[in-house]
Amino acid sequence: MSVTTVPLNTGAQLPLFGLGTWQVKDETELTVALRAALDAGYRLIDTAHLYQNEHIIGNVLHEYISSGKIKREDLFITSKLPFVAHAPEDVAKCVESQLKALKLDYIDLYLIHCPCPFKHQEGNLLPLLENGKLVFDEETSHIDTWKALEKLYHEKKLRALGVSNFSGKQLQELYDLAEVKPSNIQVECHIYWPQEQLRALCKKLGVTFTAYAPLGSPGRKAARPDGVWPEGDPLLEPVVQQLAAKYHKTAAQILIRHLTQHGISTIPKSISPDRIVENISTFDFELSEEDMHSLDNVPTRIRLFIFDFAVGHPLFPHDDVDTTIPRSGIKLH
Ligand code: NAP
Repeated sequence: MSVTTVPLNTGAQLPLFGLGTWQVKDETELTVALRAALDAGYRLIDTAHLYQNEHIIGNVLHEYISSGKIKREDLFITSKLPFVAHAPEDVAKCVESQLKALKLDYIDLYLIHCPCPFKHQEGNLLPLLENGKLVFDEETSHIDTWKALEKLYHEKKLRALGVSNFSGKQLQELYDLAEVKPSNIQVECHIYWPQEQLRALCKKLGVTFTAYAPLGSPGRKAARPDGVWPEGDPLLEPVVQQLAAKYHKTAAQILIRHLTQHGISTIPKSISPDRIVENISTFDFELSEEDMHSLDNVPTRIRLFIFDFAVGHPLFPHDDVDTTIPRSGIKLH
């Protein structure tokens, strides 16, 4: 299956579809998933320092590149800077360690994972904890971090830069100050949280848009078993089920097609080879304008991810989140 691409402001092409890898740390599971994905035509792989799986991805990429099965230039690897490494002196060290783990000379797209910087322990990139809570880094601004990333961009180690979980205001502020303009933003996006305003801003700025949790992240609660995160399952939404029957597709395929047809890059995670093939099999049909409209207008509006570990941080991005909820001591991954 061949995946449509959209241009980045660097001139490179961003695939509109790829594999998410959050919560997959088991070497066998991830290796099987990556091989199934690459064999099925996936070329975009999304990872992050926080996912603790870049070394596994690196081994599989090396296997495919060194055997000549896939050329490096046909792959598109996205990774992210952890929130404990925003301080300019930490950025290059962190990126170097990620390149080493990924067994790559460059990363195609590199995102600031979270707008809220935190401190790390002396001598390593593990979060500093006080009373079980992460400690804010209030000295480092977004542009400080960005300038360190721009240097790595000019050295061609990072081929495009972007942000994740930033608000529109934070994106605009960074955009105005940046010499190398952001190429992409990655945020939660699905039928219950369609991000219309942010997408409109991105269109104006020429910033491409990536949807995480495109299926509503049904496995997300493994990261927060305490029930703090809201309920909501787009896969079970009646209109999605009806359209699945109408188009002879699955609910997941309808949700993915809805996003990619809007020009949104979509990175569903799966460790199941069958679902991996199912999820990419979405470029062989088109939803009608009327059906796109129905999916755009489901009545439910709900943010499924609440980053309560960062509540109270001066750079907390979401003004729709109840910031009186107690801050948890739990990390993002
Ligand atoms: P998601 O892709 O919406 O959902 C993944 C879940 O759906 C998994 O539990 C998977 O289970 C299941 N699934 C996959 N395909 C399916 C299908 N065809 N039918 C039914 N269920 C299916 O959620 P996500 O993993 O949270 O988000 C996608 C990716 O975005 C992540 O993996 C990560 O790379 C990225 N992300 C980024 C951030 C950020 O802060 N930037 C935050 C969250 C996620 P199986 O594996 O068992 O198939």
